[in-house]
Amino acid sequence: MSFYKILQEKFTWERIKDFIYSRESIHVENALSKPEKSAEDFATLLSPAAENFLEEMASTASKITRQRFGKTIKLYAPIYLSNECTNSCVYCGFNRKNDIERKTLSYSEIEKEATIISSQGIRHILLVSGESPNVVNMEYLKEAVNICRKYFSSISIEIYPLSEENYYELYKEGVDGLTIYQETYNEKTYSQVHPAGKKRNYLWRLESPERGADAGIRTIGIGALMGLEDFRTEEFFVGMHADYLMKNYWKTHFTISFPRIRKAAGNFTPHQFISDKNLVQCMLALRIFKNDAGLVISTRESSEFRDNILPLGVTQMSAGSKTEPGGYHNEKHTGEQFEVEDDRSVAEFVQSLKDKGFDPVNKDWDRAFLNTAS
Ligand code: SF4
Repeated sequence: MSFYKILQEKFTWERIKDFIYSRESIHVENALSKPEKSAEDFATLLSPAAENFLEEMASTASKITRQRFGKTIKLYAPIYLSNECTNSCVYCGFNRKNDIERKTLSYSEIEKEATIISSQGIRHILLVSGESPNVVNMEYLKEAVNICRKYFSSISIEIYPLSEENYYELYKEGVDGLTIYQETYNEKTYSQVHPAGKKRNYLWRLESPERGADAGIRTIGIGALMGLEDFRTEEFFVGMHADYLMKNYWKTHFTISFPRIRKAAGNFTPHQFISDKNLVQCMLALRIFKNDAGLVISTRESSEFRDNILPLGVTQMSAGSKTEPGGYHNEKHTGEQFEVEDDRSVAEFVQSLKDKGFDPVNKDWDRAFLNTAS
């Protein structure tokens, strides 16, 4: 059964929401006592009732993380290739209606950005772009990947959804990671916040991680944009999506991100305010439910918050990020996707991790040892 069918038949939004908000302390105690957590237990850990158990959840999540990942934090940084976009997602600074300076990096500019980032020690790059297939097309993407192969051992993409064939083409070129957030799993809200453009196609986006995994991509990141919907119900669907993918694509490593909506051009007001406590609860519940999933916290979050959540389950963090095309080599910073909160340099962040007893990991993959590498 496809995940979409499961959503339609088994986990309808309103039923799950009612269930989450009906949980009581006794249900949380019961869920926490079980060695294996069911979908119902996971929903319970996301409930308002579980807020009184955050300390116990933190201790459990911390133990699981140490056992599975040690005290390692994998580092990465994004290169924004282009802020041109044909979509009008209401929450995004790159929305085609926003009056921002539009730019697509030339190949020599990609090389400049790659040189700067790699000189800071980063070996895992994330190539980000809006959806403008006429500009950022397959030829452009393949060349961007080719340039980055000289500087980075791991290359991920966060772009518009592709067909399995196109993912395979990029995989052959050197892409080993894919990040694609569903934004919201609530189909009705999805259509409201994506009023125009190709992104309106909910199912095409929902099934992108499967197409990527079928193409051979080894790490796939999913998540929802926090603030578009009731966050407890939303994160339940993120967890169930991860559960489905991990069961059906056991060779692929899955990660989960928790992006909170940040200030951006267009001045979108989130539909729901997500507090630090809310975000921490979601992270703990997901760690306890999916022990082996990587958990990602980007520079959208403040340095203080990122430092505080280190022991709780996070395994991957961005560092020194710029969120506009050319942001690393240009003095002038315009046309960014959102405002970065943690603006520490890579060196400062690495030092801070070491001071707290964590091991920053720049390289955990090298496609040179992969037989199928071209
Ligand atoms: S979220 Fe992506 S698709 Fe939507 S406007 Fe922004 S860049 Fe374009």
